[in-house]
Amino acid sequence: MRSDINRQKVLIVDDVTKNIQLVANFLKQAGYEINYAISGKTAIRHIKKEKFDLILLDIMMPEMDGFEVCHKLKSDDETKDIPVIFLTAKADIDSITKAFKVGGIDYITKPFNKAELLARVKTHLELQQQKRNLKELNATKDKFFSIIAHDLKSPLNQLLGLSEILQKEIESDQGHEVIKLAKLINESAKSGSLLLANLLEWSRSQTGSINFNPEILDMEKMTNEAIELNENNAIQKNISIKSKIKSEIFAFADGNMIRTILRNLISNGIKFTMNGGKIILNAKRTKDMITYSVSDNGIGIKINDIKKLFRIDINPKSVGNSVEKGTGLGLILCKEFIEINGGKIWVESKLGEGSTFKFSMPASKL
Ligand code: ADP
Repeated sequence: MRSDINRQKVLIVDDVTKNIQLVANFLKQAGYEINYAISGKTAIRHIKKEKFDLILLDIMMPEMDGFEVCHKLKSDDETKDIPVIFLTAKADIDSITKAFKVGGIDYITKPFNKAELLARVKTHLELQQQKRNLKELNATKDKFFSIIAHDLKSPLNQLLGLSEILQKEIESDQGHEVIKLAKLINESAKSGSLLLANLLEWSRSQTGSINFNPEILDMEKMTNEAIELNENNAIQKNISIKSKIKSEIFAFADGNMIRTILRNLISNGIKFTMNGGKIILNAKRTKDMITYSVSDNGIGIKINDIKKLFRIDINPKSVGNSVEKGTGLGLILCKEFIEINGGKIWVESKLGEGSTFKFSMPASKL
């Protein structure tokens, strides 16, 4: 979550550079990151390229005036939530009314009072931050409930149904379906238990009760352990898991978190790869970081779906065309744990060819 004032970016839009300089200097001193645009058109271009937390917008500008800029921003889903404060010499009531009507959040007249401008900028940035936090909390709550209500119910229902049939098969002494049923029961139990493990770990991370204990980790050893854990699932689909990791790769990270990440990425690799496929694990050291990769030659991910991954507010059921629809909790948990360790996670994928999930983590200094 972003609460660091230094990282908050303000865009100043004004056709008079002297005005921009005045406001920019003053806000820079207050610790904000500043960018500027000298016309409505360039402002829109900047905003499409970069993420801003707040916009200070002049009204009277040639070609496209401030009202039109604001109207455009508010009509676009990508930019509609950025607060716009009008900063203008126009003080008539019609302009003020119009500014609020087109979506402005506040109105300051020039010449402005520095303390007042700063107080308003600060207030709106704080409100914006709180709004974001609330949105994230709400999405987290929705996800919890949807997982408990739907996704956890499904493996449990399968367990109930299948075990009932199994019981009847044994009672009626037929027995030819027994092994198949036992396998299906085992799969449902495994998928339910992986989901429950993720859910519990995630709930602990959300309530802040998870400990972060970085230590030196032998990645070759951890990888072999992770392969062993997933071996049965892989064998069932005749998928090979190979490690290319050399023995001298040591990370400095939280062991439990890295185990969870490997468990999820490898199990996804198996889940989204056809029978007879291949999963390759690798890790490389670059300067102070280690980049770990889990590659599969499975179904791959559409370009448009890639940006939907790792996001709590997007339902994974809208991602991909795979028959195996999940909860989307695994990758969110991976991202959260990797960020706690100071790393990043990303994916390179081609539909129909396979996916490589990569993450970085600090290397051991020893
Ligand atoms: P789940 O597997 O429970 O859906 P994840 O967060 O682990 O949750 O994955 C979210 C989605 O990302 C999956 O539903 C799938 O569409 C896509 N995905 C993840 N890993 C892979 C992979 N290795 N190959 C193809 N798609 C994947």
